[in-house]
Amino acid sequence: ALDIGHDLGRALLNARSFERERQLVAELRELNSYKSNLIATLSHELKNPLTAILGHTEMLEASPELTPSARNSIAAVERGAARMQRLVDDLLVLARAGDPHAAFDPSPIDLHAAVLDAVDLMRVTINRKELDVVVDAPDESLKVLAESDGIDRIVSNLVSNAIKYTPEGGRVTVSLRALKRQVRLDVVDSGIGISRRDQEQLFSEFFRSTNPAAVALPGTGLGLAIVKSIVERHDGRITCESTLGKGTTFSVLLPRA
Ligand code: ADP
Repeated sequence: ALDIGHDLGRALLNARSFERERQLVAELRELNSYKSNLIATLSHELKNPLTAILGHTEMLEASPELTPSARNSIAAVERGAARMQRLVDDLLVLARAGDPHAAFDPSPIDLHAAVLDAVDLMRVTINRKELDVVVDAPDESLKVLAESDGIDRIVSNLVSNAIKYTPEGGRVTVSLRALKRQVRLDVVDSGIGISRRDQEQLFSEFFRSTNPAAVALPGTGLGLAIVKSIVERHDGRITCESTLGKGTTFSVLLPRA
């Protein structure tokens, strides 16, 4: 009888701690949703004044009677506002991707076409840096079950990072493979690489490497946080393998349509 009482007590305790855990998870989800909403609202509110600033700088630049120093000042304001606009856009996307209450509406998306579009958008930089960019995909059409905007973000962020962090004359390969239930996307570059320490924080919001070769290039440190958040929204997975000075591979698994 004692034993039964003991077991019952333990079962009760387990049930209680399970219930407490469930409550905590629900509270965390709520807080996360609140944070996403706050960021989304703030970013949204910042968008209009920024558009006004950029509109006016453009107008001022067109004015013929500006002194060279006034022209320099206006150019500086424009650069700052443009950078802020990119940041605000990224924050808005990050907030939406991380909001558990946001609607999720996937449809079959042609991943190969998305990759070709992303590479095309980078054509000017690819030519300027004389990079060898190869897209390696099977003949059959590879569709993922995903949100079209999300796929564009994932692919363009990974491809543009590979191009950005690979020195002139380097190579970037984007390959697609069909697995049983998933599609695998690998973005491989022969660039500056990422140290082991940096790899641990790579997907954190605002993380930028301290590698001098990376610091010199502009960025917000939000790109990979956005990619990870979108991938997880699709029940996918993202991993990174890299050797400093040799190159980096980002691999993404997404559900097959
Ligand atoms: P951003 O490029 O705007 O700084 P990301 O979130 O896209 O932000 O990337 C975070 C950091 O990870 C970058 O600052 C860079 O140091 C590193 N990184 C990302 N992709 C690569 C890559 N392909 N090769 C080397 N470093 C990379």
